[in-house]
Amino acid sequence: MQTKLYIQDINQILNKKTYLSTYSFFSDYEETTGKPKDNLIYLDYSKFDEVILYFFNRLVDYLKGTGNYTNIQRHRDFEKCVEDFFVATAISSGNLSQSLKDKYSDIYIINNSEFNNLIEEIKNIKFFFKDKYINLYDSIRNKLGEKLQQENEIFLCPYCQRNYVNVIQENSITIKPDLDHFYPKAKYPFLAITLENLIPSCQVCNSRLKKEIDFYKIKHLHPLKPTENIFKKLDFLYLGNKNIYIKDKSTLSDKEKQYLKTFRIEEIYSSHIEILDDILEKNKKYNYVKKHHILKTCPSMSMRTIKELVFHEYINIDDKKVPMSSLRKSLFKQIVN
Ligand SMILES: [Zn+2]
Repeated sequence: MQTKLYIQDINQILNKKTYLSTYSFFSDYEETTGKPKDNLIYLDYSKFDEVILYFFNRLVDYLKGTGNYTNIQRHRDFEKCVEDFFVATAISSGNLSQSLKDKYSDIYIINNSEFNNLIEEIKNIKFFFKDKYINLYDSIRNKLGEKLQQENEIFLCPYCQRNYVNVIQENSITIKPDLDHFYPKAKYPFLAITLENLIPSCQVCNSRLKKEIDFYKIKHLHPLKPTENIFKKLDFLYLGNKNIYIKDKSTLSDKEKQYLKTFRIEEIYSSHIEILDDILEKNKKYNYVKKHHILKTCPSMSMRTIKELVFHEYINIDDKKVPMSSLRKSLFKQIVN
């Protein structure tokens, strides 16, 4: 992604803040002042998992180092428990579900006061990171969502390629995209301002389909990484009777299948019968011209020119600006070519 405007603005915001640094275990990604380092803000998506692992390893070491968990820290599930509790601690209430606590009941049995103190301490740490990173995110979101969209010329929602996400400013009204966190900020707040974790997206994909699915646990394609753009390889099949399917679905990887499932790509795309109808209708007219040798009365025109005139919106499609271009291309190729 292009980041020129983002870099200028985020640095301005970050430099204005004062930070209270109470946890040094995240020092590879934060300066001694507590300011997030550039390697966190401009972290490549391929390194997200590494940072999460680093965070939890260092957090476990830190907790062990406090000397407060000497009885329970040797339990084989201690590390997993710390990670689960941190991720699941609700950032609004700080609560943990009873079923999650029950999952670690054998740690609780060893020493219940240590167990309860652990929950309390993890809650405080989660709130510290929440306050720092989600507040930072809140202060950049309004300005920078627009800039990310404009600087990177993102016109269509990267998740579905169906809905427009361009910014519209008209007198007092501004319409702008949602800014989705690829890895949810409620679970991994330290990634809340990481540039590649922010996806300007449509409300359907962000709030209705993706919701709180944890993309760290359930792997998905990153739609802004050209190598992971599924729409470049997606082919649709028209089987008559208005039925449209994704072609050769069984050959897709698990990650690709998961993406299609989460964002309901097949169901949503196949509901756009108006595109199919338009191509079928134009094809009928085009074939009529072909069959009745209308060109004989107009010798300066070739069949190729006629085809380009009739199907101009399906030839030379701009993938960045035309919604569902992969569906349009597939149907055109199948029905007309
Ligand atoms: Zn979308």
